Amino acid sequence: MSATEREKRHRDRMQRKKAVVDAAIARAERDQGLLLVLTGNGKGKSSSAFGMAARALGHGMQVGVAQFIKGASATGEEAFFRRQPGVRWHVLGEGFTWETQNLARDTETAQRGWAVAREMLRDPNLGLVVLDELTYPLKYGWLDMETVLDDLANRPPMQHVVITGRAAPEALIEAADTVTELNDIKHAFRAGVRAQKGVDL
Ligand code: ATP
Ligand code: MG
Repeated sequence: MSATEREKRHRDRMQRKKAVVDAAIARAERDQGLLLVLTGNGKGKSSSAFGMAARALGHGMQVGVAQFIKGASATGEEAFFRRQPGVRWHVLGEGFTWETQNLARDTETAQRGWAVAREMLRDPNLGLVVLDELTYPLKYGWLDMETVLDDLANRPPMQHVVITGRAAPEALIEAADTVTELNDIKHAFRAGVRAQKGVDL
């Protein structure tokens, strides 16, 4: 095939592709508050959610964050976002379930936490709400799925919500508009590298 033929073939292909993309863009013409779920065993769920928080703040939106599992070490995102005007940051969990080892206490903590999350889900001033690691209290039954789905469904119509955590329950996936499963292909931790500032926390 000559260079001119290759050039023409490429142009034709790109033209067809452009028509498909343009048509898809023309079809997506609604605005609405979205429910996103980021799940799976791979790294990148919480950091993606906080990336959206940065985007939202950049547009002058207000952001609410609820952390349902408090990690052992202070994260860079918490230090950063707490300083930003327009951010409400709540730590609603105590620690990993294998560390607290107390079901009644975990349930109580989670339910108190949900009351705070619910307030954010009723506040139309918050354009984005991040419910970080919410899948765990759901998975362990500390929070009632129906209650959570109900509060999510009744939030302000333009409010976006991002939920992160491994093993997202099926009902949550069904309720969501956008769901991404992050796949664990390789993680440096397994090669003996401890959590690194700026990458893992
Ligand atoms: P990140 O906060 O980095 O986006 P994440 O939210 O997807 O990660 P979590 O399950 O919440 O993942 O775990 C948070 C911490 O555990 C981070 O330090 C992350 O690097 C680490 N981590 C995530 N996935 C894995 C994995 N598959 N193996 C080992 N460590 C992991
Ligand atoms: Mg996380």
